[in-house]
Amino acid sequence: MEFPSVKFKPRRDSYSRTRGGKSTILYLSCSNCKEPTLVYQKDGPGKLLRCYADRILWPPDLVDRLDAITPETIKTVGVIACEGCMQVIGTPTVYRREDRSAFRVMPGSLYSDASIESAKARSVGET
Ligand SMILES: [Zn+2]
Repeated sequence: MEFPSVKFKPRRDSYSRTRGGKSTILYLSCSNCKEPTLVYQKDGPGKLLRCYADRILWPPDLVDRLDAITPETIKTVGVIACEGCMQVIGTPTVYRREDRSAFRVMPGSLYSDASIESAKARSVGET
C-alpha cells in the first residue's frame, strides 16, 4: 500500500479539546519493513501509546471496520498487523477513562512521520 496524497482534516471535538486542542496528522509505517500502515490523528503532546479507533483515518477498509465499533465490540476487530510482514502493530483495548475504543501500540512497532513527504523519503531512502 501507499499513503494516499489526500489532505486529512483533523477532527475537532471534546477529545481533542481535552488534550489542548492541537492535533497532528501522523503517517505511521511498520518499523520492520516500512510498509505504510496507518494515517492517524494524534491529539495533544506526548508519545503514541494508543491509537483511538475514532482517530484512525486510513486505510479505508480498517476505517470501515471501525465505523460501528464500540467499547463492547472492539475486541472483535482483532489486532492491527502490518500487511507487508504481519508484525503486530496494535492490540484492541478500551481506554476506560473516556470509555473509548482504542488499540494499544506495540512499543517500537511504528515509524512516525508528521508529513507524507518525510514518510515517503523514509521508505525510499532506507530500503
Ligand atoms: Zn511490516
